[in-house]
Amino acid sequence: MRPSLILTVLLALAFPLQAQASAEIFSVAVTVKPVHSLVAGIMKGAGRPLLIMSSSASPHHYSLRPSERRALANASLIFWVGPELETFMPRILDSLDPSSTNIALIKAKGLLRLPARTIDHHADTQARIDPHIWLSADNAHAMVDAIADELGRLDAAHADIYQANKKRLHQRISETDGQIGRKLSGKTSGFLSYHDAYQYFENAYGLNNAGFVSSGDEISPSAKYVHELRDIIQKQQLHCLFYDAPNRPALVDTLTRGLAVDVLELDAMGIQLEPGENTWFEIMNKLAEACESCL
Ligand SMILES: [Zn+2]
Repeated sequence: MRPSLILTVLLALAFPLQAQASAEIFSVAVTVKPVHSLVAGIMKGAGRPLLIMSSSASPHHYSLRPSERRALANASLIFWVGPELETFMPRILDSLDPSSTNIALIKAKGLLRLPARTIDHHADTQARIDPHIWLSADNAHAMVDAIADELGRLDAAHADIYQANKKRLHQRISETDGQIGRKLSGKTSGFLSYHDAYQYFENAYGLNNAGFVSSGDEISPSAKYVHELRDIIQKQQLHCLFYDAPNRPALVDTLTRGLAVDVLELDAMGIQLEPGENTWFEIMNKLAEACESCL
């Protein structure tokens, strides 16, 4: 074969039907794994949503790869959390075809929005919402409603499937919620979390966060603040410190040196889980197991 022909064949193998997919087929993209999981559940039997942020980088400081940018540009419908989490999205959305639709689920009807907590008491937190909204069953219910309604509106041919899946998911979320509630009832001893990502989970199950190191901005805390946290651990006799997967921060050892504190890894984003319909449930169950075992 001539080199140009070989190239054509290779390209056809590498990118089958890509042009057709972007032009004609209804395609759905979702930024983060926990939300992707709920969208995959609603779309089961009708299609598969594409997950955009599949690496383990923190969503708070993510920079999109060119391929991820293209995938967003090719989607007919994009689900994301909101500018508080995917800070790169407003700029990307400005550059997209105006005919594509995007839904920021942080604005979903009936969703609980908690103000972000901060370690800087002078910071203006009034305007900022804690973006880790998926870590409560009530918010999952609200998101499932918003996802199913929007899919049904834009892809009416599959509206029946979306509605049936919505009902199924509501039931499954309620079951998981009940199980976790029973598992964590009475787990009121205080703990520290490294990154303040678990407020919605704590709020839902009556857990008692005694402090955190970072609120998401990844700025290293001052020596004075670290000292204060060690004081809190000792005075309140805390015995659990949670940090986020996948990396154990070096500061964890400074914080807990000489103290009887168990250090456990949590995975709010499902970084270590396969993407799919079950991921949201696995994230919640794993959080519950870690809290049950430590608190
Ligand atoms: Zn976070």
